Amino acid sequence: MTQTGASPIWHPFTQHAITRTIPKIARGEGAYLYTDDGTRIIDAISSWWVITHGHCHPVIQAAIRRQTELLDQVIFAGYTHEPAERLARRLIEITPDGLDHVFFSDSGSTAVEVALKMALGYWLHTGRPRSRILVLEHGYHGDTIGTMSVGARGVFNQAYEPLLFDVETIPFPETGAEQRSLDALEAACRAPETPAAFIVEPLVLGAGGMLMYGAETLREMQRICAAHDVLFIADEVMTGWGRTGTLFACEQADIVPDIACYSKGITGGALPLAVTLCATRIFDAHYSEDRRRTFFHSSSYTGNPVACAAAVANLDVWDTEPVADRIAAIAEMHDHRLEAIRALDGVENVRRTGTIAALDIRAGAAGYLSELGPRLLTYFRERHLLLRPLGNTVYILPPYCVTEADMDALYAAITDGVLEMRQSA
Ligand SMILES: *Cc1c(COP(=O)(O)O)cnc(C)c1O
Repeated sequence: MTQTGASPIWHPFTQHAITRTIPKIARGEGAYLYTDDGTRIIDAISSWWVITHGHCHPVIQAAIRRQTELLDQVIFAGYTHEPAERLARRLIEITPDGLDHVFFSDSGSTAVEVALKMALGYWLHTGRPRSRILVLEHGYHGDTIGTMSVGARGVFNQAYEPLLFDVETIPFPETGAEQRSLDALEAACRAPETPAAFIVEPLVLGAGGMLMYGAETLREMQRICAAHDVLFIADEVMTGWGRTGTLFACEQADIVPDIACYSKGITGGALPLAVTLCATRIFDAHYSEDRRRTFFHSSSYTGNPVACAAAVANLDVWDTEPVADRIAAIAEMHDHRLEAIRALDGVENVRRTGTIAALDIRAGAAGYLSELGPRLLTYFRERHLLLRPLGNTVYILPPYCVTEADMDALYAAITDGVLEMRQSA
């Protein structure tokens, strides 16, 4: 464990006045991270939801090595390359039928910004300018100004509030109150000024606290949007790549979004890459000899060849290894252990979707600033587990190579942690 006393680094989502010790990670393998002094840590949140098959998967690592010797980077405006072409074709094949064009970028936030720009461009270029955006309560879509605008407002973005644009929030579909949420969506779509788009995290709202809702509700939301011709944007940045039990969460509702964002697990977690896929009518609205209709978006590393090669290799892993079986096994591993957790006093809302399991600890203030968060973080860290509670919500979102023994260690620590937090409450 290394002190950052002298480090000039300003870490993300880190209060340096509280977090004085920052472990230095030297290498990763499978479900484990190793510190520079050799301590093994179980990476129970897949290094912030990006690692899918495990750290340093040999197939992905080999593809990265090969690509670095051929082409490191090339401007993507007006040029293309084989890794991007191959990846785009395969993405069209595996994503819901009707997503036919692929726009590259390099982070989930950017993929969402691109989605919002595509939506507004579509309405402008088809002669019906619209700008109202509907969002789901507790949603999270990134940390840029645009994505904070469509995300939940709170302590994270209070300072920037004056810069955020207005959106309309549809209540989260709490179990048993789904109809209220659907009715609100229907009413918002009917309003005299028709919305441009509705953006949602399908099935699981990640940063909002691993909040889960059913595929039936997701399907209804999409149906309502389609009925009013409001573009449906699926932000699958976290839910994609098997996390919810299927390759993409939208599959479970059997829906095709008009625009979909994928990132995080797209390279298996090895390199930053993101894509925004859209329906042909959105591409076509920008297709014109009128240069004003160009889609004006790019970042320097758009479509980076090495990242694309890693993503193609990730798809090879999906094709050649029993990934779906591993995912199903994780669901089962969770379910056995969640039974015991459910019986604990002080634990509520025990839930699971696919490989993601979550529970809330009832103690003091809830929410992100709950005092429990930092205490639990320290507690787990001392046990060499990378678990990072969202306030009083503890969740496990493991890489797909996690073992029964790893899960035992994680659930034992969570159980002990709950008891300890309650005793000292
Ligand atoms: C993480 C996340 C983002 C932002 O992705 P970054 O790569 O961190 O910019 C957007 N949407 C969802 C649902 C996410 O979980």
